Amino acid sequence: MKKKRSRITRRSEQIEKFLQQIYNLLAPQICYCCLDRMPLTELLKTGDLKKDKLWEISRYLCPACIENLVILKDDICPKCGSPLRTTGCPHCTQTSFKFIAARSVFLFDERTRPLIHGLKYHQFLKIAPVLAAYAALYLENHWRWQKPDIIIPVPLHRVKLRERDFNQSAIIGRWLAQLTHIDYREDIIIRNRYTRTQTALDRKQRHQNVSGAFTLRDAEYLKDKCILILDDVFTTGSTCNAMAHLLRDNQITQVFVLTIARPS
Ligand SMILES: [Zn+2]
Ligand SMILES: [Zn+2]
Repeated sequence: MKKKRSRITRRSEQIEKFLQQIYNLLAPQICYCCLDRMPLTELLKTGDLKKDKLWEISRYLCPACIENLVILKDDICPKCGSPLRTTGCPHCTQTSFKFIAARSVFLFDERTRPLIHGLKYHQFLKIAPVLAAYAALYLENHWRWQKPDIIIPVPLHRVKLRERDFNQSAIIGRWLAQLTHIDYREDIIIRNRYTRTQTALDRKQRHQNVSGAFTLRDAEYLKDKCILILDDVFTTGSTCNAMAHLLRDNQITQVFVLTIARPS
């Protein structure tokens, strides 16, 4: 019986592989960045979830594009994590950040943009655990502070949530919590105003747009905890800073920010 079942399993695996090959011929996998054709790599199942999810990047980017992913670990502003220029940090000279430090895993460039925008605007949900695995690796290797106690994603207003169906930062945040065994709460800071999309606003308008946009529901719970605010992209930092400001106003001072990417 055992022998029979294993033969059936083997057979079904062969069929699955065969169908996959046909599928590859008909619809080859394309690199999300350079659009090169690439073979579909098989999923890795080592039992180490983070390792398996890191491996999955090879299903979306070709080897050359993976090689050129820029991890923002060196030559960055110690405060906000912006890639450093000879003229200093343009963000920190213009904004007084209320978090202790912000870091981003990747440079937001032609390699990471299609992945992050894919998740945000085109329901590319499979990329969320992959990005979270990179964030987990970043915390492991390049985080200079204590391990955060709790991850809080930048919330979406409920109207926007209804429009988009999901909050991309929350999805990445949940995966990151699972991979790092850090607590996760998305109900503790809520967005109480429907803020305009930030894309078309300048720095000053962005800050005005988000100030007072959040409400802290349970300050007592966060007391003495080290908070990690999580977002997909750090642009001017105004959204994360508004949340950090609110926490500081409630005597919660151990506040850090981690985003998946940021432009130079
Ligand atoms: Zn490529
Ligand atoms: Zn800075």
